[in-house]
Amino acid sequence: MIRTGKDYIDSLRGRRLNVYLFGEQVDEPVDHPMIRPSINAVAATFDLAGSNPELATAVSPYTGERVNRFLHIAASREDVVNQNKMQRRLGQLTGTCFQRCVGMDALNSLHSVTWEIDEEHGTPYHQRFLDFVAFTQSSGYVIGGAMTDVKGDRSKAPHAQADLDLYVHVSRRTDEGVYITGAKAHQTGCINSHWLIVMPTLRLGEDDREFAIVGALPVDAEGITYVYGRQSCDTRSMEGGDLDVGNAKYGGQEAMVIFKDVFIPNEHIFMDGEYDFAAMLVERFTCYHRRSYVCKSGVGDVLIGAAAAIADYNGVEKASHIRDKLVEMTHLNETIYSTGIAASYQSVPMKSGVYKCDDMIANVCKHHVTKMPYELARIAQDLAGGLVVTMPSQQDLEHEEIGPLLQKFLKGREGSSTEDRLRILRLIENLTLGRNAVGYLTESMHGAGSPQAQRVQIARQSQLEFKKGLAKTLAGIAVDEGGQPTEFAEYMARVFDAEPGD
Ligand SMILES: Cc1cc2nc3c(=O)[nH]c(=O)nc-3n(C[C@H](O)[C@H](O)[C@H](O)COP(=O)(O)OP(=O)(O)OC[C@H]3O[C@@H](n4cnc5c(N)ncnc54)[C@H](O)[C@@H]3O)c2cc1C
Ligand code: SF4
Repeated sequence: MIRTGKDYIDSLRGRRLNVYLFGEQVDEPVDHPMIRPSINAVAATFDLAGSNPELATAVSPYTGERVNRFLHIAASREDVVNQNKMQRRLGQLTGTCFQRCVGMDALNSLHSVTWEIDEEHGTPYHQRFLDFVAFTQSSGYVIGGAMTDVKGDRSKAPHAQADLDLYVHVSRRTDEGVYITGAKAHQTGCINSHWLIVMPTLRLGEDDREFAIVGALPVDAEGITYVYGRQSCDTRSMEGGDLDVGNAKYGGQEAMVIFKDVFIPNEHIFMDGEYDFAAMLVERFTCYHRRSYVCKSGVGDVLIGAAAAIADYNGVEKASHIRDKLVEMTHLNETIYSTGIAASYQSVPMKSGVYKCDDMIANVCKHHVTKMPYELARIAQDLAGGLVVTMPSQQDLEHEEIGPLLQKFLKGREGSSTEDRLRILRLIENLTLGRNAVGYLTESMHGAGSPQAQRVQIARQSQLEFKKGLAKTLAGIAVDEGGQPTEFAEYMARVFDAEPGD
């Protein structure tokens, strides 16, 4: 069983994955200086499990053993809440995306969806899925969640695309299983995972039956090609030195995954053709995943710390507007955390027994995340001063002649070190413009769905008839049927912990 960060890194070696980066195949991703920081970030999830088992592990009902929380199926509200607390802590420790939440949220959503497909169609998916969960838990594997197709023309359904491969679909069937073809974009941590779970990315209709495929496959399955995604300033980690990268140890990872007739055996298929359950899966997955973005509040803690540190090095920490800006950053950051953790506390059990967070508040959390980290980044750059984008390189700082000049002229307040000042500025650059801005900013915008996707979900659950009923009652207007202000349903039933209709 993979238990420590070191076990994990060792487990990735020698897999002969077909990975492309800079137009060349990568021999061993583990040893590539640009890839390694992303592997270190995943390794941190194992090390946290060792140092804080209450936070980052749970006892599995399927194996009877303590397993990494990223592989655990939430059996209570506390389990869902602890996912968020673990995510905040890992954001604090790594300052980046630690890549395992997509897999965790895929497992938790599939628990209920497979159960409900079986209930309606008499299929054997749920037991297969439980067997897979127990298998991954007893091995300690990392699971990547592959949902987002490349999608081609966004206005057309999968079956209506000019090229059917723009959505992953079943290309061939045998008695033993199915073969899939297509491509998934932006896949977080896919090369650092052991298994991928492939899922549809949107609501499907009857004509999209062949696209309604969910299955688990090993990352090194025959027929998979990975094309590594570039990140801003990524080659700095190949230049030697650790100052200019800003966060030398940790980074995120995304890649495109291309499937060409990749086999999934029957025992690893969890949906095949039940197109009417694709929307349920997408909505449940995004429900969990949109409040997983509490990870950004952990990264935000790092950015606030960096902003406070640079203000200290610049000698302005006590200025009232600086203190107020740090308060504003904290307010924004805690708003993200508050909505995420509230969604988790307002979890409810599904028919299968898994607990699912609150859909309304999870969407509010993610919608905040599409905006607030950008404002946090703006304030951090305000406090940083222009040097965050104009400072010289580590080589210049270490140069025999230029170095002493830079040490003298780039010094902040007396008693602070020039190098420490530059290190903090590079970290702010890393989080707001560089490598980890991928996770902190643009992923905050699009990951788990672009902003409009949350607005659609919020609109669906806004219960305007109920609210009109409240207003009309107080205004002395007769209330229409269906708008009774005393009957709780859907979101309001969850708010008041009531049975629908109470
Ligand atoms: C850093 C990062 C990591 C990610 N990690 C993962 C991962 O691990 N696994 C995974 O499965 N996915 C992952 N994603 C994918 C993420 O879920 C998608 O980026 C998101 O769903 C948006 O899809 P898109 O990027 O194709 O953008 P698009 O869908 O092209 O959206 C671009 C714009 O067009 C609008 N738009 C799109 N379709 C329509 C339409 N039909 N009508 C009107 N407007 C439309 C959107 O609202 C948006 O404003 C990741 C994304 C990022 C950026
Ligand atoms: S962006 Fe956050 S939620 Fe998504 S995988 Fe990375 S750390 Fe987890």
